[in-house]
Amino acid sequence: MAERTLIAGGLLIDPARGVEAVRDVLIEDGRVKDAAAGLSRKPALKGVPTLDAKGLWVIPGLVDMHVHLREPGREGDETIATGTRAAAAGGVTTVLAMANTEPPTDAPSRLAVLRAKAAADAAVNVLFAGALTVGQKGERLTEFARLREAGAAALSDDGRPVMSAGLFRRALEYAKDLGLLVIDHCEDLTLSAGACMNDGAPALRKGLTGAPWAAETVQVVRDVALAELTGARVHLAHLSCAASVEAVRRAKKRGVPVSAEACPHHFALTDEMIPGYDGDWRMNPPLRSSRDRTALLDGLADGSIDAIATDHAPHGCAAKGAGFDLAPNGVIGLETSLAAALTELFHAKVLTRRKLVERMSSAPAALLGLKGKGTLAPGADADLVLVDPDEAWTPRAPFLSKSRNAPLAGRRLKGRVRLTLVAGRTVHAL
Ligand SMILES: [Zn+2]
Repeated sequence: MAERTLIAGGLLIDPARGVEAVRDVLIEDGRVKDAAAGLSRKPALKGVPTLDAKGLWVIPGLVDMHVHLREPGREGDETIATGTRAAAAGGVTTVLAMANTEPPTDAPSRLAVLRAKAAADAAVNVLFAGALTVGQKGERLTEFARLREAGAAALSDDGRPVMSAGLFRRALEYAKDLGLLVIDHCEDLTLSAGACMNDGAPALRKGLTGAPWAAETVQVVRDVALAELTGARVHLAHLSCAASVEAVRRAKKRGVPVSAEACPHHFALTDEMIPGYDGDWRMNPPLRSSRDRTALLDGLADGSIDAIATDHAPHGCAAKGAGFDLAPNGVIGLETSLAAALTELFHAKVLTRRKLVERMSSAPAALLGLKGKGTLAPGADADLVLVDPDEAWTPRAPFLSKSRNAPLAGRRLKGRVRLTLVAGRTVHAL
């Protein structure tokens, strides 16, 4: 007997198919069987378990292409089990886990262990990035072909930039031949050395060292040039400043194969808002000026920025409580990314609901070349989220994540995930 569920009466938003209308969605054996009006009235479907989605959005599960799950090496801060439960609560059904674990995911054997762990522990789909360089030291490239064979979904040294342009050029050439996406953390370490926040008036007032926007943009510009030179795709992680957005915008106009992501904390918060010396507000790249924030909103609106990703980066309270200048970089975000985007982008009229779903689901799925994700077309995986776009709530610790370094905690957000399905099975319900 086929296992079937009907989601009835919700507003289906499926940007990949240009659908934005009230539809019933029939799920059968973990996949979307049909999405059409009036399915729930068909005599043949009488008796199929039905979820009432009236007044809710029905959207494809979110794909978050920038997540740190901390396993192996820092299981006290997060694990595959806890990180993916946090993802499920936020409507994120697929994550790309970055390779800067301890040790880094730089060898096929490590990928195999992680994929087996995810198969046993994960609440949502987990993809793994392989490291670009051995030990993420930026000196020697890893074996891309073997990493791909072992299941690497992308390549990245995220957490660190690849400072050598020559090495990065070779990385792009090899990755292009293999069809693997290279994701770069853009930061010129000679410009950001010693910094713990954005260079500007707030840093001056606090007596802290700031990194200028140029620390990011010089590497964005370099990567654009190398993508143009090699014809290889490059994806730029966590853009934070106006000049970077402008560089990507111009590159895209010239047809350079570059894509980019922005994080909720960067488009929701600025350096002016950092309370005192609260280490939970420290991340890299840092919160920038309100001018930079506006540029990110413009970039998300005009498509210069393709995707929204959290850069979910859990750290324990002891480390984060060490003071702003000593705390490690990173904030958590999986449980609040959709709510933050609804609040700051949809309700603030920066993005339409269709564009918002595109930036968080279909666009990242396409960038990673995922089949059956980012859409609810018949045949697609039944990774699906029911959302109340108007429910107001305030995220607070404790979270499903093991960590609580969340600058958005205590902030009123509008829009909440009610139910998350992965392959037709409930992984989160309010
Ligand atoms: Zn990074």
